[in-house]
Amino acid sequence: MTHSPPSIDHDILVAPSRTRATEYRPYGDRAHVLSQAEDYSALTETPVAVCCPNCGEAVTLYERGVPDVVPHFDVACEQCGVDLRAWCAVAVDAAYLQIVEPSTLTEMVQQYWNNWIWGGITNSKGEPRNDEYTNLLETKAAAFGWNWEITCPLCRRSLTDLGRTSAIADGNLDYHHWSHDPDRGVCLCRECHDIIGFDTYDTKLEERAESWGFDSRHDLQIIRLALRDAAATGRPVGPRCATELIERYNLPQSTERVEELLRAVSRQEDLQELFIDERLVAGLGE
Ligand SMILES: [Zn+2]
Ligand SMILES: [Zn+2]
Repeated sequence: MTHSPPSIDHDILVAPSRTRATEYRPYGDRAHVLSQAEDYSALTETPVAVCCPNCGEAVTLYERGVPDVVPHFDVACEQCGVDLRAWCAVAVDAAYLQIVEPSTLTEMVQQYWNNWIWGGITNSKGEPRNDEYTNLLETKAAAFGWNWEITCPLCRRSLTDLGRTSAIADGNLDYHHWSHDPDRGVCLCRECHDIIGFDTYDTKLEERAESWGFDSRHDLQIIRLALRDAAATGRPVGPRCATELIERYNLPQSTERVEELLRAVSRQEDLQELFIDERLVAGLGE
């Protein structure tokens, strides 16, 4: 038992307060990345083991469940020789400990990291802090010996690939704001960022949205994003993809609105002509 005194951690170890919808949940409510576990009552009322996401070993036991506020968590996995923090440890209902697979725990943590980075990590002033988290996560991945790398959620290229093709600025993903208040956005590589915005300025895009009969530039960006996503995945655009797009790209629009936009572009050829050009698929399939 390694209960630390309950104190809220204000440094880099604090997970963003908002929980993203795309959490990967192979064990349902019985296992969550520790920094999210306090949000799930199933893990606050039963004995919970905190496990290493690499070897699966339990490093800590919360006999009375995960505390309301997870205290500063810093426990080493002796087996792997890696310090575990709340964002790289998995809380597992102790009754399920025998059935969890280390490889699944690894995947849970890596998916959590993807969503964390892709959702845009900002400080209290809304300024992106992706650089330091990029370093933090890649260093931790290396310590575990994982070949996980930060990727652009849209073109699916890794930072290494992006660096090689100069599709990135400063070696990090860009934070694209969907809205400032509340702060909400998605991180994309520079190339994807430019492409969804038709390689033009926000003001120009706003004018274009108006002349094409849309509400705002975000409508145009969502359609471009959906079409580029379709090109990257080989799955055609249609209203059925709305939920998936909202989750993956952290869109603030309602499902109905996104469905409406996707329906329009999948049915109207004149719209397709406006949105589909060679640039749309730049950098894909290389
Ligand atoms: Zn371990
Ligand atoms: Zn990209």
